[in-house]
Amino acid sequence: EVLPPQSRRSMRAASEAGQPSLAALEARNISAWFGDHQVLDRVSLTMPAGVITSLIGPSGCGKSTFLRILNRMHELVPSASLAGEVLIDGSDIYNADRKLVDARKSIGMVFQKPNPFPAMSIYDNVLAGLKLTGTRASKDERDFLVENCLTKAGLWREVNDRLRSPGGGLSGGQQQRLCIARSLAVTPAVLLMDEPCSALDPTSTRVIEETMLELVNDVTIVIVTHNMQQAQRVSTQCAFFLAAQGQPGGIVEHGDTDAMFSDPIDSRTYDYVNGVF
Ligand code: ADP
Ligand code: MG
Repeated sequence: EVLPPQSRRSMRAASEAGQPSLAALEARNISAWFGDHQVLDRVSLTMPAGVITSLIGPSGCGKSTFLRILNRMHELVPSASLAGEVLIDGSDIYNADRKLVDARKSIGMVFQKPNPFPAMSIYDNVLAGLKLTGTRASKDERDFLVENCLTKAGLWREVNDRLRSPGGGLSGGQQQRLCIARSLAVTPAVLLMDEPCSALDPTSTRVIEETMLELVNDVTIVIVTHNMQQAQRVSTQCAFFLAAQGQPGGIVEHGDTDAMFSDPIDSRTYDYVNGVF
C-alpha cells in the first residue's frame, strides 16, 4: 500500500500486456546432439500449468540439456543440434517467427550455483533482466517491481533495509532467492530450475522449497533435482531420465510423483528412487 494506485495499475497493465501468467509447456520428440554425439532420444513430456514437475535421474543422462532446450539455450553451443518441438501454451518457441527474446521473457531459468551480479546492488540485480522486455518503467514502477519480485522470492523481509548493498554480500541461499527474484522480473510464465538447492544448506533448501510452492500459483515450474525427498515434497509430477551405457538419454517413466515413488512401473525407476545400486 506504499505506492500510489496509479503505478500499481500501470505495472499490472504492463505485465498483462506482456506474457500469460500461467502456461503449460510441452516437449515433443526432442532429440539432441553435441556434434555427432547424441545425448537425448525422442523425449516427450507435458509439464502442466501451475504444477511443479521434477526431472530426476543419474548425472549425464541429459536433464540439463533437456532443460536448456526448453529455454532455447541449447542453441548457444556451436556444436549443438536439435530435433523436435517445444510448445508453450501450444505455440512453438523454436518457430522462426518467434523471437528468441520472447522465448526468454516467457521462460526464466535458475541455475545450481547462485549467480547474481556480485558487485551490483540487490535492487539492480532484480531489474537486470528488465531491458529484455523493452518496457520503460518509472522509478515508482521499478520500486514496485523490485518489492514484488523480492516478496515472491521470499527475500523481501530480509533485504528491504539494504537494497543498495551488493548482491554478492548475501548468503548462498539468499543469493539463490535473489536469482529467483531476478528471473521473475520479466514476468515469465515458466520457471526452469537446474538443481537450485544443490549448493545450499538444508535450511536454505527448505526456504527455497517453500518459495517454489508459493510461486507455482503464478508460474509453471520445472526443476532438476538429485534430492529424492525434495522431488516428493515439491512436485506433483516426476520424470525419470536414464541413459544406458553409450546410449542417448530418455525418459524411462513419468507420472504422478507419489505413484512413481510408491509404486514405480519400471524396475530401473524403483532402483533409482530407492537408492539401489
Ligand atoms: P545431466 O544434467 O543429466 O547430468 P547433461 O545434460 O549435462 O546431463 O549432459 C548430457 C550429456 O551431454 C553428457 O554426456 C554430457 O557430457 C554432454 N554434454 C553436455 N553439455 C555439453 C556440451 N556443451 N558439449 C558437449 N557435450 C555436452
Ligand atoms: Mg545437469
